[in-house]
Amino acid sequence: MGNEIIRNIKYLWDSILENVYPKEDKCPICNSYIDEGEMLCRNCRCKIKFCKSNIKISKSNYEFICYSTAYYSDIIMELVVKLKYKSEFICGEILSMLMADYIKSRKIDFDFITFVPLSDKSFKLRGYNQSEVLAKELSKNTGKPVLKCLKKISETKDQIGLDEKNRWLNLSKCFCANLKITKKYIGKVILIVDDVITTGATSFYCAEALKKAGAKDVFILTAAKSKI
Ligand SMILES: [Zn+2]
Repeated sequence: MGNEIIRNIKYLWDSILENVYPKEDKCPICNSYIDEGEMLCRNCRCKIKFCKSNIKISKSNYEFICYSTAYYSDIIMELVVKLKYKSEFICGEILSMLMADYIKSRKIDFDFITFVPLSDKSFKLRGYNQSEVLAKELSKNTGKPVLKCLKKISETKDQIGLDEKNRWLNLSKCFCANLKITKKYIGKVILIVDDVITTGATSFYCAEALKKAGAKDVFILTAAKSKI
């Protein structure tokens, strides 16, 4: 009798698990079967256009290197959109795995990872920050800790219709370093993670805030690169 109850509970538990974690591994982009140990099918993986060089973002007295894994098109764009707007966290795992491969192959060294923050309002609306998801997954892949050391203090106004200069101005007062934990990052090398880089203004102001607060060096890593 007791065993039967246990068996029934186990069956129920296995059924739940099977629904949550389907045994068949399918590509989250095209739904075709994937090879064991892979997260994307070969066909989709072949379509990714990886970035071969980094970019430097400079303004006033600061310059930061930004690494991006791939161009924001095709499969990468689909992965970012599914992570950002459809809560498909498996896409975050895939992007962060590609990001980890990228930094390992280039031997980029740093002390810890942080991420581009959302404003409190945007965070409540979405329920999660896609850059934080990427940072946490990247932490699992690299063994480097994540430290939340940036804050978004004001909402970004609509960038549509603004020229380059005003886009930068629009973001210049949006981010600040978390000064309560400066002891943890003074003299450290920090990697800032974001999903997509477009003008570079967001990445620049985040990096500048940390540098001004005492970081030794700051690098930026994005899953994708758009426009620049
Ligand atoms: Zn596929």
